[in-house]
Amino acid sequence: MFESLTGRLEGIFKKLTGRGGLTEQLVGETLEEIRVALLEADVSLDVVKSFTEGLSARLVGQAQKSGLTGAQQVIAEVYQEMVHILGDHRATIALASKPPTIIFMMGLQGSGKTTTAAKLALHFKGQNRRVLLVASDLARLAAIDQLKVLGEQIGVPVLLPPDGTTRPSDLYPLVKRRVIEGMYEVVIVDTAGRLTVDSALMGELKELRRLYSPKECLLVVDAMQGQEAVGVAKTFDAEIGVDGVVFTKLDGDTRGGAVLSIRQVLKKPIKFVGMGEKLDRLEAFFPDRMASRIIGMGDIQTLLEKAKNVVSQDEAEALARKMGKNKMDLDDFLQQIQSMKKIGSIDDLMGMIPGAASLKAKIDMGVMEAELKRVEAMIFSMTKKERANPDLIDGNRRKRIAQGSGTSVQQVNQLLRQFDQARRMMKTALKTKGSRSLRSMFP
Ligand code: GDP
Repeated sequence: MFESLTGRLEGIFKKLTGRGGLTEQLVGETLEEIRVALLEADVSLDVVKSFTEGLSARLVGQAQKSGLTGAQQVIAEVYQEMVHILGDHRATIALASKPPTIIFMMGLQGSGKTTTAAKLALHFKGQNRRVLLVASDLARLAAIDQLKVLGEQIGVPVLLPPDGTTRPSDLYPLVKRRVIEGMYEVVIVDTAGRLTVDSALMGELKELRRLYSPKECLLVVDAMQGQEAVGVAKTFDAEIGVDGVVFTKLDGDTRGGAVLSIRQVLKKPIKFVGMGEKLDRLEAFFPDRMASRIIGMGDIQTLLEKAKNVVSQDEAEALARKMGKNKMDLDDFLQQIQSMKKIGSIDDLMGMIPGAASLKAKIDMGVMEAELKRVEAMIFSMTKKERANPDLIDGNRRKRIAQGSGTSVQQVNQLLRQFDQARRMMKTALKTKGSRSLRSMFP
């Protein structure tokens, strides 16, 4: 996500380190470089202008803050300004005081509207809400089947249009009845999309909006479309009214221009972002966390929350106890790999770890993911006894494990060596409890 912009900004910050305090000339040069970086990221001109003006007001003529280097001061102010243009505060979907809360999903075909409808349904289901999905996209017939399949996957009922339904508004009485029967609290309506904005689409959406009086009209836009996405959003807002935006495909967006521009151009908040095709890849949008990721400072908060969902407190404590006694075995190792994979791809994880974003360009993520898969396969090919006591694994067993996992004996040797080293490091770390020795081992 946003690799090219993050890379540029990190380059600018790096150049500043070691150049001492902020002189007027240095601030001027830095502002110009940031302006170019934002333009290259496809941020809209107006937004670039107000960003650099805001930043300039924060930096020019400002006394050097005590305890901060010039570079740190610039990073802090860029972060503040970035949080500001992303909307300052988190915007959520407030549920209606009287159920149901009706949410419209609007957007062009291919934007990710149907997928996002299902992701959002899963989000509310996770909050123990009774959710109904409504397949009202009659413009793309495959969308109805798609929603049906997605609903089955996440265990959320989907109201399908009866055969022969031609007008989406004909579904409304059925929805009303189902909502009362099922006591649904949240109703997510997948409205029609078209390849381009046209008057037929807008007419249909206006009619539906009048009928349903939705609490939230969410616009789903594909972040990878850049400024075009911002233009589409403007039209939807002028014609129908938009309460919030969901950006999809942020995982593939290297530039970030649309995400950085939309708040100021549309004056409407970003509420969620899609970070992948899978249904659990929807994230609530926090301007401060996103700003931190964009400037290469990671997002530890989101990482911790995700980890909490994946690893239970008991599991974490059991592992810590084993590590304390230096009893970690290959099963624990496997469990750690699997937990990490549940949190996200390595690519995702690197984006959330402070300072690791710049490493991403240097590491081949594909190779790393393949390596993890290989390690998993090797551990799967071991017996329970072998996993608990790797010292048992002699030459013959190594051959069998290599055959079973489609790897080579050298690769099995390497895994066992690495595991042994990790165990030994842990032992030394536990013996010399001082923090200094730990720090020297993990620079
Ligand atoms: P619709 O025509 O707007 O309903 O679009 P779909 O929901 O069918 O999505 C179009 C394509 O985008 C599908 O292949 C989805 O899997 C994919 N997609 C949706 N959201 C995301 C996302 O956040 N990241 C990625 N990588 N793909 C997404």
